[in-house]
Amino acid sequence: MKAIVIGSGIVGASVAYRLAEAGAQVTIIEERRIGGGTSSVSYAWVNACEKLDSKSYFDLNVMGREAHERLANELGGHDWYPRPGVLQWQDANSEAGGIDRENQLEKYEKLKSWGYPAELIAADQLGSLEPDIDPAFYGNRPIIHYLEDGWCHAVVYAGRVIGAAIDRHDARFVRGKVRAIATDDAKCIGVDLDGGGRIAAHIVVNAAGRWANEFLDDTATVPLAPKAGLVAYTMPAGLRLTRGLRTPELNLRPDGAGRLLLRAGDIDELIDGEAPPEAAQEHADELLARARRLLPDLSDVPLEASRVAIRPKPADSYSAIGPIPGLSGFYATVTHSGVTLGPAIGELVADEILNGTERPELADFRPARFKTAVSA
Ligand SMILES: Cc1cc2nc3c(=O)[nH]c(=O)nc-3n(C[C@H](O)[C@H](O)[C@H](O)COP(=O)(O)OP(=O)(O)OC[C@H]3O[C@@H](n4cnc5c(N)ncnc54)[C@H](O)[C@@H]3O)c2cc1C
Repeated sequence: MKAIVIGSGIVGASVAYRLAEAGAQVTIIEERRIGGGTSSVSYAWVNACEKLDSKSYFDLNVMGREAHERLANELGGHDWYPRPGVLQWQDANSEAGGIDRENQLEKYEKLKSWGYPAELIAADQLGSLEPDIDPAFYGNRPIIHYLEDGWCHAVVYAGRVIGAAIDRHDARFVRGKVRAIATDDAKCIGVDLDGGGRIAAHIVVNAAGRWANEFLDDTATVPLAPKAGLVAYTMPAGLRLTRGLRTPELNLRPDGAGRLLLRAGDIDELIDGEAPPEAAQEHADELLARARRLLPDLSDVPLEASRVAIRPKPADSYSAIGPIPGLSGFYATVTHSGVTLGPAIGELVADEILNGTERPELADFRPARFKTAVSA
């Protein structure tokens, strides 16, 4: 089977690898650089603990964590998926529908009943785990320690996984922009490239993230509710911090070679995803000011960079993965939390496309739900 994957972010890389591994002739088409879309501007926490308002979505994210581990073991990817643990304060802002704001204990109990690895620690234990944190910042509220959580260096992942698809399974990488999909009688038969040329395929997988609708007519789109986000990076700092921190003021984690990566939900509300990056400088400075309150040793460490991106968020916030009604040969994989979900999406989509199975894990996340909602 000939398959095209549009996009080489974490989702496209994962799908391309699993399709190629299972025997498809895969062509990956990327307009920018590998992993150069939203995947390069992600906080990239690999977790299911923020996905508590839907058990099926929680389970899909748990599968994401497990699929990360499988792929890291297969390809020797432990450098792209560190798991030192994450600490979450009460009142830390919630990313994707949780119950944590005022109800940390309720959240903890629910996570435990759903089998998520977490423990509750007293605020004064924090000092021995992460001595760089200012004790004045603790408060006396309990903290959840997600013992096995970590993050994914998504661009490293995309490069290595696509490299493995090429080297081990003869996938092809084409740099170019998909202008439109090619159709014949309600069937997608390939893609047309900007500047001319058509690549034919039996199946086209749309992993173009926030740009997923740009080369489609209305019948094939997934309604999106894009949300901008800002991440800022400090210069390398010689701190002892090893875990990710999710505090009421900001989220912060190591990002390699001593840099710290900073972001905050309330600051994201102020970000214009279409404005030039300089427009977000004052907000990046505010992130640094918050980080210095948490970690006093950052007092003379400046920011090195900041980046803005737009999340590929389907309109109801949940993933949209599956065929598009009325258009055979075309398959959507558009999702927020794609860093967590990418490897699981790769496994599930390859199984559905190549073996004709309907994976129950995806039953609640089909693009068809939007068509039903419109026509109901
Ligand atoms: C600030 C922020 C924080 C986040 N935090 C987390 C988090 O903690 N945990 C988590 O799991 N997720 C998080 N996310 C979400 C996550 O980063 C995204 O869901 C994920 O990166 C999406 O990956 P993707 O491969 O679908 O899209 P992308 O990485 O954007 O890849 C799509 C690719 O398609 C290419 N493309 C687009 N159009 C075309 C075309 N016409 N022709 C050819 N190529 C094309 C693009 O160039 C791009 O490389 C966060 C996002 C942001 C912005």
